[in-house]
Amino acid sequence: MLASVEFDVSGEDRVFRDAVREFLATHLREELRAGSRATPTVFAEPEISRVWQTILHEKGWLAYNWPKEFGGTGWSPMQRYIFEKECALADAPGLPVLGLKLLAPVLCEYGTAEQQQYYLPKILSGEHYWCQGFSESGAGSDLANLRTSAVKDSAGYVLNGAKLWTTHAHFADHIFCLARTDGAVKPQRGISFFLVDMRQPGVRVRPIRTLAGDHEVNEVFLENVRVPAGDLVGEEGEGWSIAKFLLENERGGSCHAPRLLADIARLRAEAALEPAGDGTSVIDDPLFAARLSRLELEAQALEITELRNLEQMGLGQRPGPQSSIVKLVASDLRRQVDALAVNVFGYVGMQLELQRPLYGADGPAPLHTKSAQVATPRYLNSQAWAIFGGSDEIQRTIIAKTVLLI
Ligand SMILES: Cc1cc2nc3c(=O)[nH]c(=O)nc-3n(C[C@H](O)[C@H](O)[C@H](O)COP(=O)(O)OP(=O)(O)OC[C@H]3O[C@@H](n4cnc5c(N)ncnc54)[C@H](O)[C@@H]3O)c2cc1C
Repeated sequence: MLASVEFDVSGEDRVFRDAVREFLATHLREELRAGSRATPTVFAEPEISRVWQTILHEKGWLAYNWPKEFGGTGWSPMQRYIFEKECALADAPGLPVLGLKLLAPVLCEYGTAEQQQYYLPKILSGEHYWCQGFSESGAGSDLANLRTSAVKDSAGYVLNGAKLWTTHAHFADHIFCLARTDGAVKPQRGISFFLVDMRQPGVRVRPIRTLAGDHEVNEVFLENVRVPAGDLVGEEGEGWSIAKFLLENERGGSCHAPRLLADIARLRAEAALEPAGDGTSVIDDPLFAARLSRLELEAQALEITELRNLEQMGLGQRPGPQSSIVKLVASDLRRQVDALAVNVFGYVGMQLELQRPLYGADGPAPLHTKSAQVATPRYLNSQAWAIFGGSDEIQRTIIAKTVLLI
């Protein structure tokens, strides 16, 4: 575990932080930390994320961003931030966010009592694993173009269409989906939000390989897929507003700075190693050291912005369009940090891929080896940050139109 970057906490928050540290020291097993460090993709695979989910659920700390009446922890914004920061510093795996952090707030805000009572406990326990069916071919940046149709009949709705770039659909048993219920009105007004059980005939998942060769995203085909009327969220035609609420949470509802700062701290430690054993290390390069320090400062600035956002949400307000600022900055920093890691490890990583001997018989330090192996695929996969949840160009447009009011 990395030494914690000291954060200015005092009083009750310090007691809370120590309790979190104690819990992580005793419950976050080394194989989970190692799995997290070795993850090349944007999302952690269920093999580790679900184990960590269960551990947190048993402790009662899983729903830390949910309202208290739905099982939330009731933590203050600062406590939520401390928790995320300590988890990042301890190399905790990412959680399955699609259910926990994207769908759950939608159900709390727009769901019926039946939907809340049925779905929320299953998201928490991990019984349901969710994926997100928004994007389609020709409907990514502009979701108003989507063509998946939902036709009402006596038993509910019948869905037909195809979704694209669906993260972890190959693990999921449920998909929350946007589909067109009315083709005669303004495109945005004809869209509805559905909860779809994927364990039925007519749902087909086809893998898409990422640039790094990983299987993280998919195409999902829906052919005469049945959705009971009770699994429509909100009103018919309310899907556009619900999607905007969800996307605000996707962009700014989670904190990105803790993980970025933890990765920067790790990179600093690893850049100080002497891979060739000749007394030189990457951190001695003044240009590298300056780039790393600049990224650290920018991540600290993001941290302050994220804390401000959390305080706003603690007052019951939505993340708001300023979540686009968070997404844009985080996306840029993530790619820069991962690029810098390739500077340190790229060559070593390639050698490992080719299974060649490294630096003599003993090879490099174990920490160095693992980071080297993952640096290049992680850098390639991190390019997706500029695309998913709305591309950088779309975030800039939102900021201009709704934050700067240009
Ligand atoms: C790794 C990954 C995971 C994803 N996971 C999911 C998922 O789980 N569920 C899901 O529903 N979707 C997912 N997506 C899809 C993602 O949300 C879309 O790819 C994204 O919204 C962009 O849409 P598009 O790919 O159709 O590109 P397009 O909308 O065709 O855009 C192509 C280019 O044109 C630019 N552009 C488009 N419109 C404008 C405009 N008005 N002004 C300026 N520039 C513009 C874009 O910025 C982009 O550079 C994922 C994508 C990736 C890469």
